[in-house]
Amino acid sequence: MQTCVAVIGGGLAGLYAGWLLHAADIDFRVIEARERLGGRILTTNESHILSDDGFDLGPSWFWPQMQPELAELVRELELDTFAQHNDGDVLFERMSRETPWRYQATQQEPQSMRLVGGTTALVTAVARDLPSANILQATRVQQMTLTATGITLTIARADGSEESLAAEQVIAAAPPRLLAQIGFSPLLDAATVQRWRETPTWMAPHAKFFALYDRPFWRETGLSGTAQSFVGPLGEIHDATTASGKAALFGFPSVGADTRASLGETAFSHACLEQLARLFGAEALRPRATLLKDWAADPLTATADDRSAGGHPQPSTEPWVTGVWQERLSLGGSEASATEPGYMAGAVNAARRAVEAVVQRLKK
Ligand SMILES: Cc1cc2nc3c(=O)[nH]c(=O)nc-3n(C[C@H](O)[C@H](O)[C@H](O)COP(=O)(O)OP(=O)(O)OC[C@H]3O[C@@H](n4cnc5c(N)ncnc54)[C@H](O)[C@@H]3O)c2cc1C
Repeated sequence: MQTCVAVIGGGLAGLYAGWLLHAADIDFRVIEARERLGGRILTTNESHILSDDGFDLGPSWFWPQMQPELAELVRELELDTFAQHNDGDVLFERMSRETPWRYQATQQEPQSMRLVGGTTALVTAVARDLPSANILQATRVQQMTLTATGITLTIARADGSEESLAAEQVIAAAPPRLLAQIGFSPLLDAATVQRWRETPTWMAPHAKFFALYDRPFWRETGLSGTAQSFVGPLGEIHDATTASGKAALFGFPSVGADTRASLGETAFSHACLEQLARLFGAEALRPRATLLKDWAADPLTATADDRSAGGHPQPSTEPWVTGVWQERLSLGGSEASATEPGYMAGAVNAARRAVEAVVQRLKK
């Protein structure tokens, strides 16, 4: 197999890179290890099945004023947006022996916006414009070998079979820590590998817990659904009701990945519901369903380093690839963005920058 540009990763960044290459009439392949597209963007229904009207187990929000490039893409794709529900009082749980404090919320600034249907709408809209034959799902890049004419990628299918894909250029649109797991021949220089390994993958140590209800009952008593807690197990809780009216609360756990793993999903979910009941009343104990997505336990997002060394990637304009690889390989995933690293906006920015670099090199 051969192509002009191979794109590693079928998250937002990889798909958007494919979209830009397609628009520029440049042959490409997007190679995605998972069976589904979207990477950290994942919207499902209450049965954990992908949905175009569901709950965002990955990102929920974007901030159009601060992220004009993403806002422009959302407009171009004609996606509908709505504001994060914030009307009503906020709760603060300071200590276990104290009743939660209740106070009036201040106006959210900047306003967090959500996508109607969920953030998967963005992935679906970008992928819809791409020829399906150009997207290889359930296919993992294992090895890259530099040749006189480009890079040969060794790709492994889910059934264990391997194939070679020769490309003139490669855009690696995945977290640097995951890219460091790929075999390179010749080896990448030590400083590059170290930098990739030290770049945290945004939100990789985290999880999201959802409780789904028949109606957003907390709103009836003047609560917004927003809560902060020093008690846990959820540290930050928000209203996650969909634009179509499916009621839900979600929270980010304040307990670490190892504690979550040792508790197990049933005990952890139970502790989350008890906390929701403390905050929002006994009705919270009777959800229609619960959802838990632990990203720290997902090897196509988190590495062992993310469990112990999380954090936010720093914006940087330093080249991500140096030495013999730099004329053939570009990083294009969110963490490599110089403006919004870690965010969906960063994925769009980094992919655009990588495609611009590749187009320049192909012209040469
Ligand atoms: C819980 C959570 C909440 C978040 N909240 C927000 C938010 O509110 N707002 C916001 O802007 N951002 C948020 N983010 C971050 C946002 O999800 C990411 O910035 C964005 O989705 C990154 O896109 P990406 O394409 O760069 O990377 P990814 O989505 O990680 O995609 C990389 C892809 O590469 C694939 N891959 C990896 N290695 C290989 C390989 N060797 N071969 C083939 N494929 C490979 C992976 O399977 C994956 O699909 C959140 C993330 C999480 C997990």
